[in-house]
Amino acid sequence: MGRGDYYRIGRKDRTSDYLSISIADMNRYKVFQRRGRHSWGWEKNGEIDNSLSFYLDDHITFHYSTKGQDGSPVDVNKSIPLTWTPCNFGGNRPWFVCDCGMRVGRLFFHRQHIVCRNCFNLVYPSQLQDELGRLRSKIEKIEAKLGDGCSRPKGMHWKTFEKLKAKRFETFVQKDNLFCSIAARRFPGMEF
Ligand SMILES: [Zn+2]
Repeated sequence: MGRGDYYRIGRKDRTSDYLSISIADMNRYKVFQRRGRHSWGWEKNGEIDNSLSFYLDDHITFHYSTKGQDGSPVDVNKSIPLTWTPCNFGGNRPWFVCDCGMRVGRLFFHRQHIVCRNCFNLVYPSQLQDELGRLRSKIEKIEAKLGDGCSRPKGMHWKTFEKLKAKRFETFVQKDNLFCSIAARRFPGMEF
């Protein structure tokens, strides 16, 4: 873990493969007011389950450890250029410049790759589609058990009923988050 300020970011999406960082997240912690080393942690169920550090100067250089496709440890030290544009209400706002040349407000981390949503979707479209299909069929299975979803099916315990409803909701949220990231590829102007 690097020295400097440490930020904790909660995560709604529980699919742990897709971590991201946004300029808006960073602004919330006033990251751009201080050059130098910062630390960043992603929180899941109240605990930090992923972290990295970055060094801010004219670029932002991310540093973290991950695993490669074959499971071997990889030390990532990747510099991403920043660019600034004037805001409507004065001042300037920063953007990341992805390897593809796009100016973006959010970067995704997947293993040793740090990419914008477009690159992310280009590199991993089939995995995303597979995952989406998996979540859809999970919801279908839950709904088959739940019946109409309003009244408890005969013979089902209340506890089971409540649990299934919670599971269905959770899976819906996961599916929606994933769907948004896939949809963003087709609607490049969309914020997400
Ligand atoms: Zn890109």
